Amino acid sequence: MRVTVDRAVCSGHARCHATAPDVYDLDEGGYAVPFAGEVPSRLEEQALDGVDACPEKAITPA
Ligand code: SF4
Repeated sequence: MRVTVDRAVCSGHARCHATAPDVYDLDEGGYAVPFAGEVPSRLEEQALDGVDACPEKAITPA
């Protein structure tokens, strides 16, 4: 799976990073930077927890 963040929707709450720090990094402005490329299977559950943690629904798994 892959995860993308809609930069136009992300509001920099950082809840994704707090919930799933191995999948979602933050840039210098506090906005989410998702895992680049295919998320390893061992991190998929964490990636989806991050999706659920985002109050803006800015993260899309695919
Ligand atoms: S929780 Fe959502 S809005 Fe907040 S930084 Fe992460 S992707 Fe952006």
